[in-house]
Amino acid sequence: MMLSAVLAAMQFAAADPQVLTVRTNASEAFVPVVVAANGPAVQARLLSPVIPTQITEAGAGRYRVSIGGVDLTVLLESPYLEHAGKIYPLVSAPFIDGGELYLPLQTYSEHLVRLAPSKFKYTAVTRELRFTAPARPAAPVVASSPAATRPAVRSQTIGTPPSTRVAPRKRRVVVDAGHGGPDNGMTGPIGSRSKVAEKVITLAVAKRVRDALVARGVDVLMTRTTDTLINLYDRGRIANKQGGDLFISIHVNGPNMRWRNPASVRGFETFFLAEAKTEDEQRVADMENASVRFETDAEAESGDPLSFIIADMAQNEHLRESLELASLIQDQLASFHPGNNRGVKQANFAVLRTSYMPAVLVEIGFGSNPEESRFLTSPARQTQIATAIADAAVAYLANYERRVGGAP
Ligand SMILES: [Zn+2]
Repeated sequence: MMLSAVLAAMQFAAADPQVLTVRTNASEAFVPVVVAANGPAVQARLLSPVIPTQITEAGAGRYRVSIGGVDLTVLLESPYLEHAGKIYPLVSAPFIDGGELYLPLQTYSEHLVRLAPSKFKYTAVTRELRFTAPARPAAPVVASSPAATRPAVRSQTIGTPPSTRVAPRKRRVVVDAGHGGPDNGMTGPIGSRSKVAEKVITLAVAKRVRDALVARGVDVLMTRTTDTLINLYDRGRIANKQGGDLFISIHVNGPNMRWRNPASVRGFETFFLAEAKTEDEQRVADMENASVRFETDAEAESGDPLSFIIADMAQNEHLRESLELASLIQDQLASFHPGNNRGVKQANFAVLRTSYMPAVLVEIGFGSNPEESRFLTSPARQTQIATAIADAAVAYLANYERRVGGAP
C-alpha cells in the first residue's frame, strides 16, 4: 500500500501544476505553470532571470531556444523538439500566447535533465528545476553537445540502448494479459445477468496473440498464462529481465458511469505512456492502475520516488516508438472492428512505466456494451483481434529493423 501511496502522491503532484521553482545556488524564481488545452506549459522567457535563456525566431513557426546552454529547436503546433539533430517527443506542442513562447512543462522536467544531466536536476514532487552553471567560463554552444552528455544518461537509465543491437536477431515481444487472479478487471456487460470478467478475455486474446506471433517467427514471452495475479510493476520487470523488444498489454475497457448512456459506449483505443492529458485518458489510467490495490507490500521498496523518475526517463526514450506501434495497432483493428476507432491516446500507466522498451496498452473494446461484449468473447473475433495486434507488431519490428539495420 506504501507503493500506491507514493504513486498517488506523484500523480497528484503531476495533476495539479501551479508553479515551477527554478533555482541555482545564487537565485531562484517561481514561474507560473499554465494549464493549456493539452497539458501544463511554462513560458520559456520567465526562466531567464535565473537560467541564461535565449529565444530566437527562425521562421515558419520555428524557434531556437537555448536554456542554460542547451540548444533546442521547436516548431509551433508540433509535439516534438530537436536537439543536436535528434528528435524527442513532447506530450503537447509548444505554443505562443501573448507574443511569448510556451514549452510543455516536460521540456524542463524531462528533456533538459536528460540532455544535460550535469547542469539540470528536477524534483517532481516539489516541481523544482535546479540549474548548476558550469564551473569554467561559458564555452561555445558546442561544448554542451550531446556527445559528452547523452551516453552517460543512456547507460544510467537503459543499460543496453537498442541502437547497439545492430545485428539482426530474433525479436521478442512481451504479451501481457491484463489483470488476473483476484483482480477481475472490469466486468460486463451492463444490464446482463451473465457477466464476463476482463481477465478472462485478456488471457484468451493474449494467448492468440502469442500463437499468431510465433507463427510469424517472433519470440514471445507471456507475463501470465493462467488465472494468476502478477503485480503491475513486475509485469514490466519480467519483460526487462527477458530482454523484450516490445511490450503489449491487453485490456478490456469500461465506461465512466457518469456518462449519459454508459452501456452504449464502444470502441477500441491504444495507449502509450506519457502524462495523461485529458479527463478521459486519466479515467482509463486510474481504472487500470487500480490493480495496485490487489498487490501486497512485497514490492514496496520499489516505491522509491527516484526509481519512478528514472523509469519515466527511460521509457521516454521510447515514446516515439511506442506511438508508432500504437498507431499501427489502431490501423489494424480499424479494418474490421465494429466499434469506434477511439484513436491513439496517452496515459500514465504503471504497467507501461516499468518496461524499458516501446510499450503500449490496447483496450480492445468495451466489455460493458452488450454487443461489443459478445464480439470480445467470440473465439473467432478474439483470433481476429489477436491477428491484428500481431500483424501490427510485426510491421513495427520490420520498420524498426530497417531503421537500426540501415545504420552503418
Ligand atoms: Zn484492464
